[in-house]
Amino acid sequence: MTKSSNSTFLESVNRNFDKAAGYTEISKGILEQIKVCNAVYEIKFPVRIDDNIHVIQAFRAQHSHHRLPTKGGIRYNENVDKEEVEALAALMTYKCAIVDVPFGGAKGGVKINPKDYTEDQLERITRRYTTELIRKNFIGPGIDVPAPDYGTGPREMAWIYDTYLTFKGGDIDAAGCVTGKPVNQNGIRGRNEATGRGVFYGLRELCDTKEAMKKLGLSKGLSGKKVIIQGLGNVGSFTGTIMQEEGDIKVIAVSEYEGSIYSEKGIRVEDLLKYRKEKGSILGMPGTKTLKSKEAALEMECDILIPAALENQITIENAKNIKAKIIGEAANGPVSADAEAVLIKNGIIIVPDMYLNAGGVTVSYFEWLKNLSHMRFGRMEKRFDSNTYSNFVGLIEKLTSKKIGVKEREFLTKGADEIDLVRSGLEETMVTAFQQIWETAVSNPKIDGLRSAAFVCALNKISNDYLSLGIFP
Ligand code: GLU
Repeated sequence: MTKSSNSTFLESVNRNFDKAAGYTEISKGILEQIKVCNAVYEIKFPVRIDDNIHVIQAFRAQHSHHRLPTKGGIRYNENVDKEEVEALAALMTYKCAIVDVPFGGAKGGVKINPKDYTEDQLERITRRYTTELIRKNFIGPGIDVPAPDYGTGPREMAWIYDTYLTFKGGDIDAAGCVTGKPVNQNGIRGRNEATGRGVFYGLRELCDTKEAMKKLGLSKGLSGKKVIIQGLGNVGSFTGTIMQEEGDIKVIAVSEYEGSIYSEKGIRVEDLLKYRKEKGSILGMPGTKTLKSKEAALEMECDILIPAALENQITIENAKNIKAKIIGEAANGPVSADAEAVLIKNGIIIVPDMYLNAGGVTVSYFEWLKNLSHMRFGRMEKRFDSNTYSNFVGLIEKLTSKKIGVKEREFLTKGADEIDLVRSGLEETMVTAFQQIWETAVSNPKIDGLRSAAFVCALNKISNDYLSLGIFP
C-alpha cells in the first residue's frame, strides 16, 4: 500500500470521487455502484526459480462491468497490493469513460521486482499468472483484456497472448485477449508511444487555451515552456521526446531512481536516453548539474512538471514546495488528495491522470478493434485514397497549367498508413476529451479543478450506462 502521510492511494481516488460526485445529480445508489470494485481475484502460485520454489502473489481487479470487456494494464512491482490494484482499476473505469473507450476498468499486479529475475524466469511467472487468469475466466477478448503497465511491456504481452492461445487456440478472436503486443504478434503501430503522445496532445490543448494561460500568467502555446520530467520509463521517455519533437519544449530537469539532473539550457531527452543506456545512469550527463536528491527536481521552478513514475509522489509533505504552474499527471495517482488541495490553493493547474495518460488505453482500444477485424488499419483504403488524390492533383495541374513540386505531390497524394490513422485517432480523442473537461469546468464555477471536472464527465457517462442497462434481475 503506497501511503502518503494522510491517505492511501485508494482513499485518495475515492475522496476525489466523493468530491466530484457532489457536483452531479446522480443518485446515491448509482454512485455507490460506480465507486465500488466489482471483483478482485487474489492468487498465490508457485514458480520454480533455480532450485527453489517461489510463491508469487498476484491480483486482477475488475472495477466496473458497465461495459465489457474490462480493460487495464498489469503491473510488476514489489509494492503491489490489493488496494493499489483496486485504485488503479477504478482509475481505468473513469479513464475509459472520459475518452469514450467502451470498456470497464481493470488492473492486474504481480508482487515482484522484475530486476530480481532473469528473462526466462519472468516468462515463467507471466505464463503461470496468465494460466491462473484463464482458469478463473479473468481474461479473454470479451471478458477482460490486460495491457502493459509499470514494469511490463510488449514482451510480457506476447507471452500472455501465446499462453492464452495454448489454451484457447480455437478462439478466432484470441489476439484480442491482450493489447500492447509487439507489432509482429498482432500488435498495432503506435501503441508503444501512445501514452507519451497522448500526454503531449493533452498538454498542448491546455497550453492553447487562452483563459488557462492567462490565469497562470503564461504565454499561449506549448513552445518554449520549461518542463521537468520525473521518470524515464516508457511514458516519461516518449512524453519527453515527442514534446521536444513536436512541441519545442525545454526540459530543464529530469529525475530518476539514481538522482536528478538540471540544465538551464535544456536537456535533449533523446540524447539523455542514449547516455543512460550506455552508462546505466542519468547522472554525469554532459552539460548538466546533479541535484542534491532525486526529489529535488520536483520542487524546482518550471512551467510544467510531469510526474511519469508512480503514485503518491506529491503529498502533503512536499506540496507546499511545488513551484510548477502546471502539473501534467502522466503517471497514475502521482498527486495525493491532500496535496491537491494545497496545489489548487496555490493556483496550480493539475491535468489529471485519468485524462492525460489515457492515450495508452485509447490505442489499446484501436489494437483490440484491429484484432477483432483481423486486418491492419489502412489496408483497404490507402491505395484507393492515394490514387484519388493523385487524380485531383493531376486535374489541378491541367486546369492551372502549373506543375506541383515532387515533395508537395508526395505529401498531397499520400494515403494513410496504420501509424497515421492511429495518431490521428489518438489526437482526435485527446482533443475532444479535453474540450469536454474544460467546458464542464467552465460551466460550473464551483468545480475546483480539472480532476473534478474530468470525474463529472466520467460519472455522468457511466451513470447513463447503468440507467439505460437497468438493474438485473
Ligand atoms: N496501463 C495503462 C494505463 O494505466 C494502459 C491500459 C490499457 O491499455 O489497457 O492506462
